[in-house]
Amino acid sequence: MSYDRVAFVGLGLIASSMFWAMRRAGMGAHVTGYARSEQTRAMAREIGLCDTVCDDLASAVRAADLVVLCLPVGAMGEVMAELAPHIKPGATVTDVGSVKRAVIEAVAPHIAPGVHFVPGHPLAGTEHSGPRAGFAELFDNRWCLLTPNGADTAAVAQLSDYWQALGAKVEEMDPDHHDLVLAVTSHAPHLIAYTMVGVADDLHRVTNSEVINFSATGFRDFTRIAASDPTMWRDVFLTNKDATLEILGRFTEELFALQRAIRTGDGEMLHDYFTRTRAIRRGIIDAGQDTDAPDFGRKKS
Ligand code: NAP
Repeated sequence: MSYDRVAFVGLGLIASSMFWAMRRAGMGAHVTGYARSEQTRAMAREIGLCDTVCDDLASAVRAADLVVLCLPVGAMGEVMAELAPHIKPGATVTDVGSVKRAVIEAVAPHIAPGVHFVPGHPLAGTEHSGPRAGFAELFDNRWCLLTPNGADTAAVAQLSDYWQALGAKVEEMDPDHHDLVLAVTSHAPHLIAYTMVGVADDLHRVTNSEVINFSATGFRDFTRIAASDPTMWRDVFLTNKDATLEILGRFTEELFALQRAIRTGDGEMLHDYFTRTRAIRRGIIDAGQDTDAPDFGRKKS
């Protein structure tokens, strides 16, 4: 059964992509949206994002069967506290935040009896933000992880069907395990990219124009990742602290081992290491999560 009325709270990349994917899927639901700034609401109206863009939270969510929190992780609790009294019994609240335990801790206390809370995270994004950044294909063949944490099974199944209609593949996961997996696959890599771009910026022996003009694909890819939204990523690191620090600790150990292999001329160690990592890349392509194309399959971003 699909939802009759869907409300997006926050109208950025993810909400707009969800809206266009709903339209592409031919979902007949009436969609309302709310963003805190007048500028974002005006932009949303201009591009036809949502059937109705509301100037206040209560009007946006009052009639909704599904409320989707599309905000930075650090803002979810405060916004949920404000909108909680306006959500109708029987509705489902979900979110798209990149961290799950912290969102559950911030949002769950505000969920009224009779309202279902099913946290979620689509593993799809770009470095662009705002309502204009969205596109219908964003979730195609990407995973959406739901971390139901004891939520009503019918509500979970309905949300799972909804995400699949948007093009995603859905899996359920424990929230803490989600945070550890994402620390490995997304959060630590982003921090490393931010660091590498910062290093290039600080290294005055290489000029900025040299960095820009002669960046090989590796560095160019780092710059793309490091262009991601600062608020979103600040919140990710502040709310997934333990898992990210654990992975960064392991990363540092491996880096030292590679550093030592380079210093001691241990070519065998380097070759074996790179052979192992190459197989991981092959696995990602074989699983359909990226392509071999020279643009790394990111034409849309
Ligand atoms: P976005 O494009 O930057 O949009 C964020 C929206 O949240 C905007 O409408 C913004 O309103 C609103 N907002 C920001 N701070 C707020 C606050 N303190 N109170 C109320 N509203 C606030 O973000 P996004 O990329 O769609 O990300 C949304 C969520 O999806 C985040 O939790 C992120 O972790 C998760 N996510 C992102 C990606 C990605 O690659 N971007 C992928 C998967 C999941 P204004 O425009 O009015 O300021």
